[in-house]
Amino acid sequence: MAEMFYDDDADASVIQGRKVAVIGYGSQGHAHALNLRDSGVQVVVGLREGSSSREKAENEGLTVLSVADAVKQSDVVMILAPDQVQRTLYAEEIAPHLQEGNAIFFSHGFNIRYGYITPPKGVDVAMVAPKGPGHLVRREYVDGRGVPVLVAVEVDASGQAWELAKSYAKAIGGLRAGGIKTTFTEETETDLFGEQSVLCGGASQLIQYGFETLTEAGYQPEVAYFECLHELKLIVDLMVEGGIAKQRWSCSDTAEYGDYVSGPRVIDPHVKDNMRAVLKDIQDGTFAQRFIDDQDAGAPEFKAFREKGAQHPIEKTGKELRGLMSWIKDGASDADYVEGS
Ligand code: NDP
Ligand code: MG
Ligand code: MG
Repeated sequence: MAEMFYDDDADASVIQGRKVAVIGYGSQGHAHALNLRDSGVQVVVGLREGSSSREKAENEGLTVLSVADAVKQSDVVMILAPDQVQRTLYAEEIAPHLQEGNAIFFSHGFNIRYGYITPPKGVDVAMVAPKGPGHLVRREYVDGRGVPVLVAVEVDASGQAWELAKSYAKAIGGLRAGGIKTTFTEETETDLFGEQSVLCGGASQLIQYGFETLTEAGYQPEVAYFECLHELKLIVDLMVEGGIAKQRWSCSDTAEYGDYVSGPRVIDPHVKDNMRAVLKDIQDGTFAQRFIDDQDAGAPEFKAFREKGAQHPIEKTGKELRGLMSWIKDGASDADYVEGS
């Protein structure tokens, strides 16, 4: 059984006794900075010149500094800029100002696991990785709950890195839901595999194929949208509450029987071979290299994929239908997300 941490296993005063710089104020950055502050931690936000996030952070009463100045005046640096910019940001703005006894924190192990960042000796390297989007990390905290976190220590230079990491995890609300002890390697490889095979890649492709199969057979796109996309959330909610078993308990016997008969026809054993191939590319660094090389070239492949995805007919149908369901816009959506942008 994995080693788990809860609020009672961590001492809030450890992180309250340090000065934290949160670098980046995006999805994770805003949630960490605000949760830390509301947990009584001294925090500053580090942003680049002309950052579009500056006003948002200042409107919350947070102190915003340049990345270099934020690092200089802090002893714990949480790096929450996008993964693909961390390497350069670290080399230019962070590394020159790190001192022995400082700690650098991450919410994803990508740059450490693939060697894009090599921290200096004498600096603790740890991870507190919420297993949910940043906007939920904030919303759950405000509501007195939390999003589960993975906690890892790559380098324990001070001998206190675990206490510090657990304390940080507690301060952002993660240990209310539970922390799981892991390593940078396990977090990075499982995170990439999960998002590529199941959560983002797998689910998106499954939905698109379902929608295409129905509409190409002449069914109305609106009906196909509800059947293949909208209802998925309702089914997944049941799975989160009570496992796949609860989903099967709640749906009709017809649906349950169809699940057994047709699930393995659609997702056949060949899909598992494909998943193993995806995992291999993650483990041997092929995926990381392809992502970073494309980003370094100005992201031509990434932009082309994004454009193609946005053109899929399901997006047009979905936009019209969601416009008729006011609670979707009001409730679950990310305030910073502009549809179509
Ligand atoms: P975002 O894309 O939301 O981060 C954007 C922030 O980074 C903005 O404040 C932006 O400021 C700043 N930024 C962008 N480029 C630079 C740069 N070159 N120099 C300085 N600041 C820059 O990132 P996420 O929150 O999605 O991800 C942050 C980390 O958290 C990643 O390691 C990610 O893997 C991890 N993570 C993310 C999750 C999520 O929910 N999104 C979930 C779990 C982990 P500007 O206005 O200047 O562009
Ligand atoms: Mg991820
Ligand atoms: Mg049905």
